[in-house]
Amino acid sequence: MKKYWPPVMMLAIFESVAVTLWLTKDNLFYLFNFSYIGLSVSTGVFLFIRKYKHARRIVQLLVGLYMLIYLGLICNENMQIEGFWYYLFTGVFEAATIHYAVAKIFGPLIFGRGWCGYACWTAMVLDFLPYKVPGGPRKKIGWVRYITFLVSLIFVAALFLAKVGNIEQIMFRAFIAGNLIYYAAGIILACAFKDNRAFCKYICPITVFLKPMSYFSLLRIKCDKDKCVSCGKCKRVCPMEVDVTENSRKRQNGTECILCMECVRNCPKDAL
Ligand code: SF4
Ligand code: SF4
Ligand code: SF4
Repeated sequence: MKKYWPPVMMLAIFESVAVTLWLTKDNLFYLFNFSYIGLSVSTGVFLFIRKYKHARRIVQLLVGLYMLIYLGLICNENMQIEGFWYYLFTGVFEAATIHYAVAKIFGPLIFGRGWCGYACWTAMVLDFLPYKVPGGPRKKIGWVRYITFLVSLIFVAALFLAKVGNIEQIMFRAFIAGNLIYYAAGIILACAFKDNRAFCKYICPITVFLKPMSYFSLLRIKCDKDKCVSCGKCKRVCPMEVDVTENSRKRQNGTECILCMECVRNCPKDAL
């Protein structure tokens, strides 16, 4: 039974966030929202422990579709980075600001880029493409993420400075347009570079938060050097080109790890 503690702990963490936000914000939505996400994530961890091959993809679909369709399209919440700037400028600690604080800014100090592996609705679609492992060397164009980051910030700041009316409706349209652009860019890049995660590596503005925070992550893949036979299989299956047998936080592409567990599943010596 001991091996089932991680999903129980995961559920307990999400439930504490759910109850705390429900009581402090006096809003039942937070109880529902974080309980649903916690249940989805812990189900995935449970399935992973049971060695179910598609455990991660199930969580990705449960959480990603919920956020994209229910929160985004039905509840009109812009959960993209523009929505974060919008709520930040209005000074309201709601929806997108809470989401960013939990999943993308402070949460990564604990669970690294788990968001990218298990919940992101952009990657949820990109992971259906056939290029699971990069088909060529990494490109030196990671700086593009800073441009998309700045563009999103300037876009929302300009709306506020120009005192544009009906800004909520603009944010909803920006959510739809932004997602369409992300999907199109993600699919084109994946096909051009033969790499499903090319968008994550070079374009995604959220990595400006995710990368530095996940550097300090408590949850990390570590290699037991006594068991490792240096077969290199873990690196060959890694979608993010992490130097996974190196345990230092400075390891190559260390802040790119999305905790997908492909390396762990494929290690013949259970060294990870
Ligand atoms: S890097 Fe961006 S697009 Fe990729 S999974 Fe993470 S948040 Fe989603
Ligand atoms: S797959 Fe396992 S044994 Fe092979 S190099 Fe990686 S950690 Fe070592
Ligand atoms: S294969 Fe391993 S090192 Fe690579 S992203 Fe997945 S969990 Fe991280």
